[in-house]
Amino acid sequence: MTVSDDLFERARTLMPGGVNSPVRAFGSVGGSPRFMVGSDGPYLTDADGKDYVDLVCSWGPMLLGHKHPAVQEAVHSAVDRGLSFGTSTPDESALAELVMQRFGGVDRLRMVSTGTEATMTAVRLARGYTGRDLIVKFAGCYHGHLDSLLASAGSGVATMALPGSAGVTEATAAETLVVPYNDRAAIEAVFAEHGDSIAAVITESAPANMGVVTPGEGFNKFLLDTAHAHGALLIVDEVLTGFRASDAGYWGLSGRVEGWTPDLFTFGKVIGGGLPTAGLGGRAEVMDHLAPTGPVYQAGTLSGNPIAMAAGVATLTHATPEVYAQIDALSLELQQAVSGALNAEGVDHSIQTAGNLFSVSFGTSERGVHDYADAQAQEAFRYAPFFHSMLDSGVYLAPSVFEAWFLSAAHDDVAMQRVYDALPAAARAAAA
Ligand code: PLP
Repeated sequence: MTVSDDLFERARTLMPGGVNSPVRAFGSVGGSPRFMVGSDGPYLTDADGKDYVDLVCSWGPMLLGHKHPAVQEAVHSAVDRGLSFGTSTPDESALAELVMQRFGGVDRLRMVSTGTEATMTAVRLARGYTGRDLIVKFAGCYHGHLDSLLASAGSGVATMALPGSAGVTEATAAETLVVPYNDRAAIEAVFAEHGDSIAAVITESAPANMGVVTPGEGFNKFLLDTAHAHGALLIVDEVLTGFRASDAGYWGLSGRVEGWTPDLFTFGKVIGGGLPTAGLGGRAEVMDHLAPTGPVYQAGTLSGNPIAMAAGVATLTHATPEVYAQIDALSLELQQAVSGALNAEGVDHSIQTAGNLFSVSFGTSERGVHDYADAQAQEAFRYAPFFHSMLDSGVYLAPSVFEAWFLSAAHDDVAMQRVYDALPAAARAAAA
């Protein structure tokens, strides 16, 4: 029995499944989760004193690595000023300006505490603005655990092979229209039938919760044009991709280049540098429908929390072009190393990318992965042995094949060498 095993036994008697977020439970890969007690740069340390190269990065936020000196310093100094004032603070505006410098079309930003709150508010705002009820989402996209967007959701819902969630009323589910990703004809059909009642289409800027799926060329622009042709809004969820796929998320690689901008963006993860902050932003005309300027209510006791704002400002300030160039290059190198190791063992696979985000899927080389059906049809059973072999070698991957691989600016040569050295055995395990 390891210390982590003991801690998990105890946690299981105290929390559902022993965890505070479902995929942390290792349900799809088996075994008991490691309990982490510390971190530094690219490493996590577990309760048994073993360290791991971290390729999860807290599911995205730790773009600069763990304990980045400037972020730690900003947080410590914010703590010294007090934990929460329940008032406006200067750093809220500083963070809003940093977001607006990067993302086009964000005239106003509202800070919330989680990505779920951001998308929940965006959906309510779209309904309040348009006076319509229906929302279109894509199968396999995950936007947090709000009732209306849990249907055919990715991330943990996909990992546990659930169609949705118990506890969501039929009436709520009926107000969400789910279509296959990358399928223009399905979008056209849904608008042809329900066009006058659709408030918004919500999409991940590039899906990364059914594994990564690359949007077809021009797909996001097509969504915007189709939504607008019918008086609906487009909500682009950058909670995972934002400030990670580029300084301006995946939009920075597509919309900024192609010249399109959605009505609303949602942000999370990197924006808070590891503390609970998220946000939604968009053009003033829509955003000003939020209270107190407009009739759509939204509020939060800890929204814009000063410690979280300080972490966000420090993180975005240090997320320089050099950081993105470094992570982009590392990501390419890692993708090649993973592919090389899997090819050497004859493991059929494909790698999907969205900028520096990527994921590996098994048995998919012929068709690739273009939507949730493709992601589900893969040889997912190969992932558990691959994952456990990497874990034994001191590399921490997400305990689900449906998650992206995350790198940080702190992943240096020593850390990456450990990953590369671990790959051949993991590939052999996946081949078995
Ligand atoms: N949207 C996307 C694209 C996400 O990946 C996530 C979480 O993984 C969320 C929303 C929900 O964010 P949170 O877990 O902070 O509620």
